[in-house]
Amino acid sequence: MRKINIILPRDYDYNGIKPKISVSLKGEKVIATIIRSTFTSEGLHLVVNIPKEVDDKEFIKIFSQDGAIAYKRALVTVDENECIECGQCTAMCVYGALDLDENFSLIVNQDNCTGCRSCIDACVRRCITVQ
Ligand code: SF4
Ligand code: SF4
Repeated sequence: MRKINIILPRDYDYNGIKPKISVSLKGEKVIATIIRSTFTSEGLHLVVNIPKEVDDKEFIKIFSQDGAIAYKRALVTVDENECIECGQCTAMCVYGALDLDENFSLIVNQDNCTGCRSCIDACVRRCITVQ
């Protein structure tokens, strides 16, 4: 499985969204499973798993329509020069990609990041990038 992020704009019709998304790619039915959905300032942010045999570029093309943005899993980075290690972002990250150690220093574990972008708005210093 690979993770794809989809951002549906605020004016998107969310009524058709189901836990499993079925799409037709080159005549083949593909099931993508939503593993996380979060409302952010940009709209509804979905993280979906797609089977590894699926061409992710084709999948992304299908979902990059009608104002929606789809992209491959992105990773978090923190600008250390701006971060004041307040820990606000760690509360937003349910995947454990952002944490404070025993010295209250911020630890960034990119392996755990799903690219969900929930932490961006939590940062008072605007020093988190997810791309
Ligand atoms: S993008 Fe999501 S998973 Fe990655 S650090 Fe931020 S909140 Fe955690
Ligand atoms: S919210 Fe921003 S400033 Fe605070 S610890 Fe996280 S990255 Fe650093």
